[in-house]
Amino acid sequence: MIVIRYEGVIYRPPSEFDSLIIQATIGCPHNKCSFCNMYRDRRFKIRSVEQIKKDLEDAKGIYGEKLEKIFFSDGNTILMKTKDIIDILKYSKSLFPKLKRATMYGSAQYINLKSLDELKELRKHGLTRLHCGMESGDDEVLIKINKGYTGNEMIKAGKLIKDAGIELSLYYIVGLGGRELSANHAINSAKVINEIKPDFIRLRTLMPRIGTKLYEEYKKGDFKLLNPHEALKETKVLVNNLEEINTCLVSDHISNYWNIEGSLSRDKKDMIEEIDYAISLDLSNFRNPESGNL
Ligand code: SF4
Repeated sequence: MIVIRYEGVIYRPPSEFDSLIIQATIGCPHNKCSFCNMYRDRRFKIRSVEQIKKDLEDAKGIYGEKLEKIFFSDGNTILMKTKDIIDILKYSKSLFPKLKRATMYGSAQYINLKSLDELKELRKHGLTRLHCGMESGDDEVLIKINKGYTGNEMIKAGKLIKDAGIELSLYYIVGLGGRELSANHAINSAKVINEIKPDFIRLRTLMPRIGTKLYEEYKKGDFKLLNPHEALKETKVLVNNLEEINTCLVSDHISNYWNIEGSLSRDKKDMIEEIDYAISLDLSNFRNPESGNL
């Protein structure tokens, strides 16, 4: 990870491990999801184009022209004005002629503020991939976690990104519906994913974070955390309900109980067999669900 300057704790997708991190925005404009404490320590602000350009110049001063990947953090940089994103994309390309990938986070409610033409312009100027925390496609779960959009709004946003030619990484949180909504969470998320046909589905398994509303619900007994077998069974329901679309499913996160990955169009049967194998193992083979950042 290559960082020039940063305010607060750095969060970036694991797949951006070797990208230059440029903090184009600070914090998250929503900052209300019941499971998330990532940006609670900072108030949302959009940095000026001049400040962002200065960071890019500093990066060039240190690393030269060789950089190939940039991730523009923080939580919802897609909210920036389209003309400003284009400005920093163009400037990045002028400083780093070998640049192959420019990426950022974007949630459905902020993607939907942009038109297809604007998103196509962003793609044309080098926005190659968007990381989108879908988390769930089930409306009941989405309301409970205060995500700020519905499954249909997620479909609209996902299709906009795909139609603009931007690669889409969608994130799904195993166990986010608790025991009560586990099946609906998986089935309705699969419906949304089947409609969008993202490039990647990235699995994360819920680990309640101290200081969040969901953690309080869990501590009071109002939210039932899935055990490893239940989490794997939910993953199986998800995969079973996904069509053989041209999407890669990956488990690139330490929170997951098992590494399930493959192409849905090619490896669905193998992934189900892998999940069945993991479910056949004794619970002592998995991390304690209460371990991690509780
Ligand atoms: S999950 Fe994403 S949208 Fe929700 S509060 Fe955290 S950073 Fe913001």
